[in-house]
Amino acid sequence: EPVRLDEILNRVADQFRELAKLKNITIETSIASPILMDGDEQRLHQLFVILLDNALKYTHEGSIKISCHPSSSFVYITVEDTGVGIAKEDLPHIFDRFYRGDKTRSRTGEGTGLGLSIAEWIIKAHHGKVRVESQIGVGTVFHITLPLKRKR
Ligand code: ATP
Repeated sequence: EPVRLDEILNRVADQFRELAKLKNITIETSIASPILMDGDEQRLHQLFVILLDNALKYTHEGSIKISCHPSSSFVYITVEDTGVGIAKEDLPHIFDRFYRGDKTRSRTGEGTGLGLSIAEWIIKAHHGKVRVESQIGVGTVFHITLPLKRKR
């Protein structure tokens, strides 16, 4: 039942590297190994696909950094980009269903505003926490904490 979180993250990073390269963006990883955690492999994979997809979509130059390190009974993950950032007034709403930031809402097409609500749901299903730091024009960091062991 335990899944290899480090392998999931490296797989998602590899999956997005080609796409990133087309935009001249690098994906850097700092991932401890091995990291074994009780969790749903597919959902955790989906969580990082959502975060990487957003990081790439909202970044036009620079880099995306993924870090993942365990500490006692938790694992601490960050996904950091040098993208457009999120306005202070948008930050409290980004996990809401169908919510899209102002700058993106005016843009046509791409995106439903569902990604982050699914991401938050997956984090909660794993009894974890998420916190976002962002600055317009500088970038965004998602901080995620997940327990390594399921409570019983
Ligand atoms: P989709 O879910 O189809 O990808 P979306 O990206 O608009 O559409 P969410 O993933 O839920 O929807 O994100 C909600 C909003 O949060 C986005 O519209 C965008 O304004 C903002 N956002 C999310 N991630 C980032 C990021 N890495 N950088 C800047 N803004 C972001």
